[in-house]
Formats: sequence, C-alpha cells, structure tokens
Amino acid sequence: MKRVVLASANPDKLSELRYFLRNLEIEVISVSDLLPDWSIEETGATLEENAYLKARDVAEKTQLPAIADDTGLFVDVLGGAPGIYASRFAGPDCSYENNINKLLQTMLCEENRRASFRTSAVLVSTGMEFSVTGEVAGMIIEKPDGKEGFGYDPVFLPDDLDRTFARCSPEEKHRISHRARAMLKLREMLVASGIPG
Ligand code: IMP
Repeated sequence: MKRVVLASANPDKLSELRYFLRNLEIEVISVSDLLPDWSIEETGATLEENAYLKARDVAEKTQLPAIADDTGLFVDVLGGAPGIYASRFAGPDCSYENNINKLLQTMLCEENRRASFRTSAVLVSTGMEFSVTGEVAGMIIEKPDGKEGFGYDPVFLPDDLDRTFARCSPEEKHRISHRARAMLKLREMLVASGIPG
C-alpha cells in the first residue's frame, strides 16, 4: 500500500479524496498527520500554480507523493472574478455568506449570469509531476437556495441540474462537480503512473 499525502489540513477534502481514490492500493493521509503546523501562502497567479506550490512543498518536506487542489469561481460578466480569489472575495477572513452577498450585490442588475467552477489538481512525486483540471458550467441565481454543500453552492445552478448544488446530496454533486471531474482524471493518471502498490 503506497502512502500519498494530501497538501491540505481540511478534513472534508481528505474524506472526499479518499472517496475518489477508493479501491486503489493507496492510503491517503493528511499533511496534518506528518506536519501539524504546515501552512503555505498561495501566491500563484493561477489555480495550477497554487496547487503546485502546495504539493511541491509537502512532497519535499515529507518525501512522499503529494496531491493538492485549488478551485476558483469564474463569472463571465465580471471578467472571470472572483476567480482564484473565490475564498476571499469579500475580504480576508470573510465567511461563505459574506462572499455570496458580495457576489449577488455585484451582479444585481446583470442579465448575463453565466459562471463556472474550475478545479486544478496536481500530483508531485520523485521525478514526476502532473496536473489535471475539472470544470462545471452554470448560472449564478439571484437568491440563495438550499442548505447542503459549502461556499457558493446556494447560488450556483449547474447546467446539468434543475436545482442548485446546495439542494444536492453529496453523491449527486460528485456526479458532475468540477472537483469530481478533476479527481477522476487524477485517479486515471495515478493508475497509469504505477504509483498504487
Ligand atoms: P478551494 O481551493 O477548494 O479551497 O476553494 C476556494 C474557494 O472556492 C472556497 O473557499 C469556496 O468559496 C469556493 N468553492 C470551491 N469549491 C466549491 C464548491 O464545490 N462549491 C461552492 N464553492 C466552492
């Protein structure tokens, strides 16, 4: 069984990654298990750069293969904002609710409500690196609807569904989400790389 480290202290991301990499000869552990105080500033200009910053740092410090991901919300009429700054759109240390309120205020009179979530996921191991992406397109609705999920889920209506991500079970969201699409590609690349085992 090969150990792979997730370059994130977020327990939800850990259980989600374990779900996507289930039934492989891989044990996914959290960076918190090996480096309890680990953190890194995400100074990259793109999702991919930020994911590589995290994974390269953790791979170097733990000497194990490391996986990292980074997600952004790209709103057409805002020229792609909040983009890679999705988590801090309303300012440093803001809540999900603050971000949603700022987004709805900013788009108040906009008719074009097209947007997409994009995830970049990377793996860094000795002598090998690769990155994959996943995307889901949809609309930003005018009022929050639903209590499931997190982040912008209550205002994001994916094209392939008749309700927001915040009205989906985790399984329904995993069928079409940006992160699921990236993680399934990552799984295929992992298997092709021979890392499991
Ligand atoms: P992260 O890179 O996965 O930490 O995501 C950055 C930010 O994007 C989060 O803080 C959320 O605001 C937003 N975000 C990421 N994934 C999702 C999602 O699946 N639904 C809603 N918002 C998301």
